[in-house]
Amino acid sequence: MAAQKTQAIVIRTFPLQEFHKIITFYTPDFGKVKAVAYGVKSPKSRLGGSLELLNHGTLLFQHRENRELQNITDFNLIDGFDAIRSDFTRITYGCYFAELVDSIASEGIASPEIFNLLHTTYQFLVQTDDVPLLARGFEIKFLDCAGYGPELSRCVHCGSAVKGGTTGKFGIVFSVRYGGVFCGECENRDGAAFTIAPGSCELLKVLRRSEWERFNRIRASTRNHQELKHLLGNFIEHHTERKLKSIRFIENVL
Ligand SMILES: [Zn+2]
Repeated sequence: MAAQKTQAIVIRTFPLQEFHKIITFYTPDFGKVKAVAYGVKSPKSRLGGSLELLNHGTLLFQHRENRELQNITDFNLIDGFDAIRSDFTRITYGCYFAELVDSIASEGIASPEIFNLLHTTYQFLVQTDDVPLLARGFEIKFLDCAGYGPELSRCVHCGSAVKGGTTGKFGIVFSVRYGGVFCGECENRDGAAFTIAPGSCELLKVLRRSEWERFNRIRASTRNHQELKHLLGNFIEHHTERKLKSIRFIENVL
C-alpha cells in the first residue's frame, strides 16, 4: 500500500449506505481511480462539499494494486467550475462529458491527454458561444485520445483518399461499423452506412485539430450540427454498447 498524490476530476459519484459514497476520479497519473469516501455524507465530514461531480482537486489516496476500490485520504479542491454550475445547459453537458469518459476510459491506464482534454474542456465550457459544437469537439478529441477516432480522409475498406466536394458527389458515406468513410467504389459495403455532406466531414476534421480558443470563430450550419450529432452519437453508442443516461437527458430536456 502506497500513499499517492495526483490531480483528479470527479467524474462519477454513487451513494454507498447512509453516509458513504463511491467516487470515480479521472487522474493524469493513474487514469480512472475508483475510491470509497467514508462518512462523506455526515455533517461532520471535512470532505463533504469537495467531492461533487466535475470538481477538480488534488487527491491523496492509499493505492492498493489489483483492488477495485481505493481509500481516499484527502481531496483539496482547486476548481469547482462554479460558472458551469450556474448554467443549466452547461452543467448538463459537463455531466455528459464526465459520463462519456467514465464509460469508455479503462481503469488503471494513465492518460494525461484525456485528463488535460477534460480539464481544458471544462475551462472553455464557461465561455463557449455554441455548447453543442463544443460537445462535438469534445467527442471527436476524446475518441482520438482513447484510440477510437474515426477515419475521415481515407476509405476504411481500400485505403484510397476520400475527398469531399471535389469529386462532384453530393455526400460522403460513413460507416459506424467500419469506423470511418468509404470511397465511391466501396460505399455499398455496409447497408447501415449513411451519407453526410462533404462540408460536415470537413468541419469534423476542423473540430478534431482546432484548439478550444478557435472554437468561437468556427461556424456550423443546422445541417452540420444535425449530421455530426448523428454521426458521433451513433459512433459512441457503438463503442459504449448503450445509450448514455446524460445523452438521453440532453435529447429530452434541452
Ligand atoms: Zn474504397
